[in-house]
Amino acid sequence: MYCPQPMLHLIQCLSALPGIGEKTATRLALYIMNQTEADALQLARSILEVKEKVHLCSRCFNFADSVECAICRNPSRDAHLLCVVETPGDLMAIEKAGHYKGLYHVLHGAIAPLDGVGPDQLKIKELLQRVSAEAMQEIILATNPTVSGNASALYISQQLISAGVRITRIAQGVPSGGDIEYIDEGTLRSAFDGRREMK
Ligand SMILES: [Zn+2]
Repeated sequence: MYCPQPMLHLIQCLSALPGIGEKTATRLALYIMNQTEADALQLARSILEVKEKVHLCSRCFNFADSVECAICRNPSRDAHLLCVVETPGDLMAIEKAGHYKGLYHVLHGAIAPLDGVGPDQLKIKELLQRVSAEAMQEIILATNPTVSGNASALYISQQLISAGVRITRIAQGVPSGGDIEYIDEGTLRSAFDGRREMK
């Protein structure tokens, strides 16, 4: 493919992003070429700005642009409730749902011994310190329902046994709008295990 070197470089950089193949990267590069210089600069600056100004919250390890993130700084959040998630993306999804009003703790991964990820590589030590320092009443383990997510939830719940705090795990089962006929066996088993009284 004929392409000036700077454009080739841009296509290479874009295609290194997750979910973007060479075709999409080429389309994006052509789009950027047709943008005004001001718009292209704004895109370039916004990339630099997130790298310069966004870091991890000192308390919950969510992304933040000051020492603590906006959720930790918000006095109307319920500081007795703590939701443990694997990634800032998981936190964003829960926030988007708009139902949860407590605080968070982001582990930045899940326990996966085969990939060399143990408890020490995650923000688990910091979580245990928080639980003993802050007046928590309930820890909601919202790690993914995968082998490593479940292993992380189990490990954390064992570490917190003596903490005198309620430990819960998010429910697993049939998604809303789902069709039982097409749901896999593991999910269906979880749905039966997690059944609740009708009120
Ligand atoms: Zn925070």
